[in-house]
Amino acid sequence: MDTPADIGVTGLAVMGRNLARNLARSGYSVAVHNRTPARTRALVEEFGGEGAFRPAESAKDFVASLKRPRRLITMVKAGEATDAVIAEFAPLLDEGDVIVDGGNAHFADTRRRERALRERGIHFVGAGISGGEEGALHGPSIMPGGSAEAYDSLGPMLETIAAKAADGSPCTTHVGTDGAGHFVKMVHNGIEYADMQLIGEAYHLLRDVAGYSPGQIAEVFRTWNGGRLDSYLMEVSAEVLAHTDAETGAPFVDVVADRAEQKGTGRWTVQTALELGVPVSGIAEAVFARSLSGHTSLRAAGAGLPGPRAEAMDTDAAGRFADQVEQALYASKLVSYAQGWHMLRAGAEEYGWDLDLGAIAAIWRGGCIIRAAFLDRIRSAYAAAPGLETLLADADFAAEIGRAQGDWRAVAATALRHGVPAPGFSAALAYYDGLRADRLPAALTQAQRDFFGAHTYRRVDRDGVFHTLWGGDR
Ligand code: NAP
Repeated sequence: MDTPADIGVTGLAVMGRNLARNLARSGYSVAVHNRTPARTRALVEEFGGEGAFRPAESAKDFVASLKRPRRLITMVKAGEATDAVIAEFAPLLDEGDVIVDGGNAHFADTRRRERALRERGIHFVGAGISGGEEGALHGPSIMPGGSAEAYDSLGPMLETIAAKAADGSPCTTHVGTDGAGHFVKMVHNGIEYADMQLIGEAYHLLRDVAGYSPGQIAEVFRTWNGGRLDSYLMEVSAEVLAHTDAETGAPFVDVVADRAEQKGTGRWTVQTALELGVPVSGIAEAVFARSLSGHTSLRAAGAGLPGPRAEAMDTDAAGRFADQVEQALYASKLVSYAQGWHMLRAGAEEYGWDLDLGAIAAIWRGGCIIRAAFLDRIRSAYAAAPGLETLLADADFAAEIGRAQGDWRAVAATALRHGVPAPGFSAALAYYDGLRADRLPAALTQAQRDFFGAHTYRRVDRDGVFHTLWGGDR
């Protein structure tokens, strides 16, 4: 009999196959399994030379081929398929074995699954994995939840296959218990939505207000990518904008239908934020902007509505405007990250996770879609002040946003004047001003609530809860 495999992967579509290859290339022996055995055979035929794969066609053989305590990763479709796989494998496992779900599960499902498996003595690790298929193969960012004991067993493997940050440290860490890993991955994806929306708004303004071509904007983005906005998404955006459609010779971005789809993690982030009472307006605006883009008949109905058309600028003004857009993009990005970190704090408090907010920034520095130089600064901010109430209160970030705000306001105003929608820039600015305000109109809101619903209010000059007997018939 063969020596048992170090780890198993079941679910060999793009992600599972590449993760199994990554493990095998790193020197681990990997048992591989898929509901439809043709995928297992194809993997071994195509990539069998890359390492020690142990193909298995039945769940029983797959489990039997694993070293004890058994460690198996499921990389199947999120939702019912994950429950089906757990129902199939759990009866074959023993106490102390570990199931890792590397799919994009909702953290509440992960909490439920972890609880049920814990009762049977099985460790369940919900692991967020970001970086797409290339990341899975060359090094993703991995956000594992579950017990510390499970991480002790898995950690060295995950640290070997994960991406490495510029300082060489692995882009994975034990995030927290039960659903913490999938929660953190969800917030990662929410921030990704916000980042993409903000870059889209910068593009739209440079195109319609500065009058730049997609190729020129690609150049601007490349320049920005050499500075503080250095990030994978900025690099991708420049590549896309520089690309020409082979069939028509037109800029590629002009032949793509302007309807952005979504798989749901952005929506989950906003739904959860609403439940936690955390204002993540940047992420929400990004989700709504995608939603609006997809409402074709609604947009057709609105196409004739009156409003300004963007007016082109002369070259010098366009250059100055582009510099201002860089400031607006950076400041808005900072706000959406501050909102994302607020959500991480709120989730930790609600679900009892000991999240290390700096370590989360550290493991997003490489491998994942929002990877960026900027994350190292967030890591440092939390290292210096772990209890930081908001990232915007960090002295360096506060100074930067202070310097950016004149241009940021000018860009938001220009967008409004020219009729170019920039909900991400505007919402970020409104959030910033909301934090700065000495007094918010919430005083009037609360008084209205007391007026029509006897909801009571608090006073600024003494403690207690008050209600006013409002006059008149209602
Ligand atoms: P996928 O298209 O989401 O799922 C296909 C895999 O699920 C196949 O192996 C399929 O087996 C299996 N499957 C479906 N229903 C099943 C069931 N009832 N029982 C057993 N197996 C079942 O594959 P993917 O794109 O590689 O993604 C895998 C997971 O990673 C998903 O949860 C996804 O959300 C997550 N993820 C994906 C990406 C990405 O960039 N694609 C990035 C991060 C995370 P058959 O071959 O038998 O149909």
